Amino acid sequence: MNCPIRSQENREWLLDYSAGRLDRERTAMLERHMEACPVCARFVAEQRVVWDALSQWESPELSPDFNRRLYHKIDQVQPSSWVERVLRPLWRPMVPVAAACLLILAGVALHTPTAGLSPDTSHARVESVEPEQVERTLDDLQMLRELALTPQEHTGTTQPM
Ligand SMILES: [Zn+2]
Repeated sequence: MNCPIRSQENREWLLDYSAGRLDRERTAMLERHMEACPVCARFVAEQRVVWDALSQWESPELSPDFNRRLYHKIDQVQPSSWVERVLRPLWRPMVPVAAACLLILAGVALHTPTAGLSPDTSHARVESVEPEQVERTLDDLQMLRELALTPQEHTGTTQPM
């Protein structure tokens, strides 16, 4: 047979073989080919590693009250007010563009009292940016956008002369 990798023919045989799905006749042909072809042999060996890892992976068993405890945890870590939630990312100068946008948008909302935030939280801490952090910042951005669209009665700017 032609080499499946070099000739681009029957490449799916290699995948099927690695997954143990190839029929006996083709398996024999492919095995004979691989004896002479290190490229295909290595490809199959690598695929086998992946399949082995997948077959050995078992999800841990969840205790019956896992969800309850998880939601309890989530409740516990929730910031006390939306102000705190919005402002927290602002004190981290390493949070990239998203936070910069947030800063600009936040200017609109910042005349709201900054409840519970002492001045020394503004001392910048250098941290690496986790994807999760960026995601949260984007969530906050979305929330600010919604806030900006909500007319507020007590801002003083909308009062008639
Ligand atoms: Zn080959």
